[in-house]
This record gives sequence, structure tokens and C-alpha cells, in this order.
Amino acid sequence: MSATKLSGNFLKPFHSRIAPTPSGFLHIGNVFSFVITWLLVRKTQGSLLLRIDDLDYDRVRPEYIKDIFETLDWLGLDWDHGPQGVDDFNNHYSQIHRLDMYQALLTKLVKDPVVVYACDCSRTRIQELGSYTNICRYRHLPLDNNDSAWRMWVSDDTHVCWNELHQGTTHVECRSVTEQIGDFVVKRRNGQPAYQVASLADDLYFGSNCIVRGKDLLPSTTAQLWMAGLLAQTSFSGSVFYHHPVVMDVSGQKLSKSAGAMSVRSLRETSVQAGVVFRNLARSMGIPYEDIFTAQDLLQQFNFQLPQTLSPDLTL
Ligand SMILES: [Zn+2]
Repeated sequence: MSATKLSGNFLKPFHSRIAPTPSGFLHIGNVFSFVITWLLVRKTQGSLLLRIDDLDYDRVRPEYIKDIFETLDWLGLDWDHGPQGVDDFNNHYSQIHRLDMYQALLTKLVKDPVVVYACDCSRTRIQELGSYTNICRYRHLPLDNNDSAWRMWVSDDTHVCWNELHQGTTHVECRSVTEQIGDFVVKRRNGQPAYQVASLADDLYFGSNCIVRGKDLLPSTTAQLWMAGLLAQTSFSGSVFYHHPVVMDVSGQKLSKSAGAMSVRSLRETSVQAGVVFRNLARSMGIPYEDIFTAQDLLQQFNFQLPQTLSPDLTL
């Protein structure tokens, strides 16, 4: 195992992205993730991309896209690449403009016919089973069948390893792709490239070398690293990952998009200042929080103290 010491003048700038999905109003957990990403980028003099993952457009609504820009504005976070507003996003940055690129990655991925197979299981069918149990592996359904998804065949001993950021260092973490996610979907039944493909293609295209996401997205990390390995995409495999704690509400439940009082929109509407977000993060990082009001205040105190737990307290 190798460990790399980081310091204030860490030589490798982090190029990262904040990548919300506009399928609901953002909640305080989403913005913890944004701010941590912003801190890592600014601390290492890297660059930040705003990427809005709208490929799953059945659930996308214009007010959710608007909410992303209003939330970033409320937080006072800046970014270096990506859309500056809703129209700019729709005209230039929607994932719909990059469908050909996702399709090309998918085509490369399935060149080896052993690793991919068709599956026509409906959502209802999978719910009845409790989870997808690889039932279509041996059915030999034609890949060009309309209304079939494509799944990757993840054999039993499939593992991936990556560099995980841990306080001021990185260490190597390994997980079983089989256990984390199993035979995952790369093409949806509606013919579109699936989230895992689009996310990997975008990270390659935009040159991310640092990926921040919640621990609940470890399954996606393992799927994407495995695909990157099959495609010999070493830039992705060599990225630094940080999987932050999942944000819990007071009753110990994971915050959801219907988070009510914890939605950023309701905080804005009740004139709560964004300082409460930065003080919460400071506290979870062990930084004295009383005098933290802005992102810049927190950045000045930040030296890669990453949080062990995240739970919002609006009274700070
Ligand atoms: Zn199936």
C-alpha cells in the first residue's frame, strides 16, 4: 500500500466536479458534498466543473435546474467550467448534447460480447425478486432487441482498487464489484446509455482527477472503475476519490430529495444564511466554527480535515 502525504502546497491540483441530478430540490446533504468538493479544489489550486446530470430526463424538471443555480448563488461558491445559468445549461451543457459520446463509450465497452448481455426484466419483476439475481445471464436474448436493457456480466471474483483520500493522505482501497453492485445496467430499456456510462464518459471527457461523492455511491465507483479498466482508461483509474459520510437527519435516516425543512429552498425562503452550512462542516471537521460565515472563511481554516460524520444542525 502506498500513501502520499498531502500538504498546503500539494503539487497535484484536483480537477473535480459537482454533479447534481435535477430530480428534486437540493437538500443540505447535497450542499455539504458541493462545499467539500469546492474546498479540495481551491485548496490545491485545481479547477471545478459544474455538471448537471440530466440524462434521466423523465424525472428532470426546470425548477430543479433553476434550484441548482440558486443554491450555488446562496452558498457563494464559484466554479471554473460549465454552465453559468439555466439557458446556458440547456443550450450547451445538457447531457443530451453528449449522447453520441456516451453511445461511443458503450459501443467500445460491448465489443467483447462475453461481458454484456440483454435483460428484459421490468422494474416490477425485479421488485418481485427483491433484487436482480442474474436471471438473464443464460437466456441469450438478442442484444438488438428493443425494450431490453444491457447488463455487464460481473463474474464472481471481480475486484477494483483506487486511491481514497483520508485526512491529509491517500490510501488504496479495494472492493468487490460483484458484492457492491453485481450485473449493472449500461443501456436502459429505453435505449439510452445508463447513468454509469454517462458519468464515466463525462469524467473522462472533462478530465476529472478527483471525485467526491457519498459513501452510498460506492457501488457506482466500483462499476465505473471496472469499466475504466476494461477500456484501459488509466486517467480515471488513477483518480483520487473521496467518499464522504452519508448525511443523516436527526432521526438517523438518510436525507432524501423530499427533505422538507432540510431542503435548501426552504432555508433560503426562511432567510437562513449559508453560514450555517459552513459552520456545520467546520464542526464536523474539528475546526472552531463560531467565526465561520462564508466559504472563504472555511477555506482559510481547511487543511484536509475530512469529516467522520455529517448531520445538520440548523441552530449553529
Ligand atoms: Zn433480466
